[in-house]
Amino acid sequence: MSFNLVKKVRLCEVGPRDGIQSEKVYPNTLQKVELINAIADAGFPVIEVGSFVSPKAVPQTADTDEVFKRIIQKENVEYRALIANAKGVDRAAACGCKKVKLNVSASVSHNLANLNCTPEESVAKFAECVDKANAANIGISGSISMAFGSPWDRDIPVSVLKNIVEAYLNVGIDEISLSDASGMAYPTQVYEICTEMKKAYPQVNWWLHFHNTRGLGLSNIIAGMQAGFTQYDSSFAGVGGCPFVPGAAGNVTTEDLVHMLHECGVETGIDLDKMMAIGRQVVEIIGHKTDSFLLRAGKRSDLIRELPKGQAKNNTQK
Ligand code: ZN
Repeated sequence: MSFNLVKKVRLCEVGPRDGIQSEKVYPNTLQKVELINAIADAGFPVIEVGSFVSPKAVPQTADTDEVFKRIIQKENVEYRALIANAKGVDRAAACGCKKVKLNVSASVSHNLANLNCTPEESVAKFAECVDKANAANIGISGSISMAFGSPWDRDIPVSVLKNIVEAYLNVGIDEISLSDASGMAYPTQVYEICTEMKKAYPQVNWWLHFHNTRGLGLSNIIAGMQAGFTQYDSSFAGVGGCPFVPGAAGNVTTEDLVHMLHECGVETGIDLDKMMAIGRQVVEIIGHKTDSFLLRAGKRSDLIRELPKGQAKNNTQK
């Protein structure tokens, strides 16, 4: 088998939104502002700052409006937020957020039980959000959660995913993320689905979003890169987990992902040391250890030690 990885990827740090949304102790507004400015400084091209959803449902991101007002928005960095409806677009417009993301579950039974409509019908209702976003000059993207399986349906047929993608395209959204919130994706499946979707919809600007629930996050990203996908979400210190999914674990860890990509010669534009420092800071704030391998073991390059005295070539000292 020959490796056929992409040369360069674009990553989105989702820690400030997906990462902290199931934490009991989480960063306050000022800490979020500091973290987000530091993430931009470390070279992240896209940052998911928070969400404009019900503060009762997700208290961890209730202050997203305030965070947006206080961060220093760097040019060339996209600061996005998750929304659930047109109210979210209004909140985005009011605080200077220029990119929003909608989500629908690919699980037909889950969607029917919660919203009493199919995923395509849910997406059709997003047309109002698209109109409002266009009028306010706000970019809009969509995601499909449970794209690789759900606790209610096991596998999701590719035809269901295609119907949802077409529904998104019909309302004018062509930036779409396939999300594995349930942590059910595995590499060969990811490769097959991504290859198929890329072929069927070459006009779509694709993202992939994996959780490390069953330890397959990084392998799934390798599979995605083999299929030519170049945009991935990850979370500082590996925090995260959907509160509705049994046994859910964090997102793919940013430090582990950047480390793997750099060792493989894949460009990210991200400073790994800066992200490791941010990861440590996050662990301190939330008050417990996380699944980050890098924060535990350090970088591969850290192992390359100096030879004992006398054996080393001594030609640098004069
Ligand atoms: Zn997620």
